[in-house]
Amino acid sequence: MHIRKLRLLTPGPTPLYPPAVRAMAGADIHHRTEDFRELYKQVLADLQYFMGTSNDVMLFTSSGTGAMESAVSNLFSPGDKVVVAVAGKFGERWEQITRAFGLDVQVLEAPYGESVTPERVAEALAAAPGIQGVFVQATESSTGVSHDVKSMAKAVGKTDAIFVVDAITGLGTSQLDIDGWGLDVVIGGSQKAAMIPPGLAFLSLSAKAWARIEPRRPTYYYFDLLKHKKGGEKGESPWTPATSLILGLAESMKYVRELGRDNLIENAQLLAKATREAAVALDLELFAKGIPAGAVTSIRAPEGVSSNDIVKQYKTRFGAIIANGQGSMKGEIFRFAHLGYFDFADLFGVIAELEIILRSLGRKVEFGSGVSKVQEVYAEASKL
Ligand SMILES: *Cc1c(COP(=O)(O)O)cnc(C)c1O
Repeated sequence: MHIRKLRLLTPGPTPLYPPAVRAMAGADIHHRTEDFRELYKQVLADLQYFMGTSNDVMLFTSSGTGAMESAVSNLFSPGDKVVVAVAGKFGERWEQITRAFGLDVQVLEAPYGESVTPERVAEALAAAPGIQGVFVQATESSTGVSHDVKSMAKAVGKTDAIFVVDAITGLGTSQLDIDGWGLDVVIGGSQKAAMIPPGLAFLSLSAKAWARIEPRRPTYYYFDLLKHKKGGEKGESPWTPATSLILGLAESMKYVRELGRDNLIENAQLLAKATREAAVALDLELFAKGIPAGAVTSIRAPEGVSSNDIVKQYKTRFGAIIANGQGSMKGEIFRFAHLGYFDFADLFGVIAELEIILRSLGRKVEFGSGVSKVQEVYAEASKL
């Protein structure tokens, strides 16, 4: 029996920023006080910095899916024609939510591991006039691919459609110029690159998106965007917010400001690159055929090995939680996250452990062959 530290290596929840955890203990605060109003306003401004936008940002006490639902319920009416890009389990969630609210949904599907191309989005918009919305994931966390949202935004921007981007794992891991590219709705969640536990969701809305809201018949109550915007301006949440998480978020956002948004993104991108190079050096196949994500890397389990066993060994040997494939990808792939509070020291461990696990599963592995790739990426990035 040896010491095994619990480590979260999943694409949500992610490792917690320790000062944020300590700040959360100060939750004996009332949400209708001047102290809290100041904190709330500060956090909304911090989220604008984190997201890189001057658009309004609204904050919900819910997981990320709540903000996804709010975009559908506040901006669209039953029967509205929309296009949904589906390249994995989270794209499937967009399809389910838009159908649940009675929208007229056209799905653009890509096989797991591939991205939906911007050309397909442009074609769909050209082929069917009157499309009211386009839904996509910036990063499809279930497969580890990204979408070219910049090019998609160009196509959507020429139409009246609202571009709704689930950037829950895209924020803080990939460059998203919300204002410059015209991303009308961008959604984030607390348990990803924001480095705090699950329970908060947030989203930004462009002027084009706001213009859709007023005349709509409400199909929402809790997730009322206008109420949240008006409340936010006064430092108030319409309902009782998760005060402890907001205290934690203020602390982690302070850190993001110190670090700089671009450095946070580069951190994830470098770790993802190093992971891909290590995987290839270990004779493993990368699952992403589309644009590989900065947030998460998915790797195919080698021939004759189930990813269930790799996931299990991370837990039993090293106390680490890594992600299996979801749905039909379970047993086929395993995934390492890089979003938020991850560093090179974490990755040295993750890859060294992978070498041990692969050898225990009967693969021929030269110890250090994967780790040295991570060291090389580190050396190059830090001009060693
Ligand atoms: C984590 C995640 C979500 C949100 O899921 P919740 O469980 O509701 O927080 C949505 N989309 C993507 C791409 C995600 O990675």
